[in-house]
Amino acid sequence: MKKWFGIGIMITAIIFMLFSLSSNNGNINKLAKQIVPKEPSFEYGILTDSFSVIKGVVKNNQTLGEILYANHIDHPEIYKIVQKSKEIFDARRINAGKPYTVMCSKDSVKKAQLFIYEENAISYVVFDLRDGIDVYKGKKEVVVKLKTASSSINSSLSLTMEDKKLSPRLTHELSTIYAWTIDFFKIQKGDAFKVYYEDRYINDEYIGIGKILASEFTHKGENFYSFYYKESATYGEYYDDKGKTLRKAFLMAPVDYKRISSRFNRNRKHPVTGRWKGHFGTDYAAEKGTPIWSTANGTIVSASYTKNNGNYVKIRHNGTYTTQYLHMSKIKPGIRKGTFVKQGDIIGYVGSTGLATGPHVCYRFWKNGKQIDPFKESLPPGDPIKKENYDDYMMVKDSLFKILMANE
Ligand SMILES: [Zn+2]
Repeated sequence: MKKWFGIGIMITAIIFMLFSLSSNNGNINKLAKQIVPKEPSFEYGILTDSFSVIKGVVKNNQTLGEILYANHIDHPEIYKIVQKSKEIFDARRINAGKPYTVMCSKDSVKKAQLFIYEENAISYVVFDLRDGIDVYKGKKEVVVKLKTASSSINSSLSLTMEDKKLSPRLTHELSTIYAWTIDFFKIQKGDAFKVYYEDRYINDEYIGIGKILASEFTHKGENFYSFYYKESATYGEYYDDKGKTLRKAFLMAPVDYKRISSRFNRNRKHPVTGRWKGHFGTDYAAEKGTPIWSTANGTIVSASYTKNNGNYVKIRHNGTYTTQYLHMSKIKPGIRKGTFVKQGDIIGYVGSTGLATGPHVCYRFWKNGKQIDPFKESLPPGDPIKKENYDDYMMVKDSLFKILMANE
């Protein structure tokens, strides 16, 4: 015991000596620092040292012109900038709440040399005004860290995510992956999930989850699997443990939506007319301008406007199925009667034209000429893994499965 005590004192003494040495070094370093030039600092790939940098957030109803004018760019030049940027970025689409940066000259005028607008956490647009006008888009470097999480479910999936301090986006992603497999309104106590997914960071700051790579969902005592696999360089999707797709021949939704604002209902009071009339579609609320996708391959049978539908597109998929998409702000140029579209192709943009209270897509679905609720139908499945990719898929699946199972 005494021996250990002695060693302890010695170690403490050594640490103390090292500490005082390093603090001496600290003084030397301080002297050296005065001579060593400052590291150049970059932001958005631009050397910022020679500018005075102003950071701001776009205010309600504020335009690009207003921000530039406040930084000594006159109106003829603003006009040129807006014209020049059209192909790359629509200057009218500057949104309140988004951060921007102005890099100004360090002289007494402080004229804007560069303006950077952040479209989202990753993408930004640079307006370089130093030598003529140069407008280009850039992306911040995203660091991906892989993570696993698991839990049994006591009440709802979203409350479980909240309890476990997991991103609410995981609920959204899982319910999308299993949209055709599990009815998330019928989740019960004893159900559970395991998930392996990407967490994304920019400059060590968490910006949210990326892709889910694998998951196991236990529902009513049965395990349902999803494994992400790319059959081509640009396109991947989710397959089960046997290589069958979790997707149907139809997408679950025609848009990346915020919420379903109204479901298919044969007896509903119309929100605008107040009349009792069935709602023969599903309403997906989303921001104005959000792209709308064709939910399956097919041929456009009409792309037009009516007083009630607003701008709409109708697609015939085969002899059995037809879908329709209403209230678009705009039909995508090139989408007209006779055009062939593939599943996931953009056909228009969310709006509130016609009889609509807010921006949403009213999605309508016909089977053999009769309007139906696609959520209550058993729809044909999408294609399974291609034969030539099957062995490769099984290898990927096995390694993902091991990672999932190691996570208890
Ligand atoms: Zn509707």
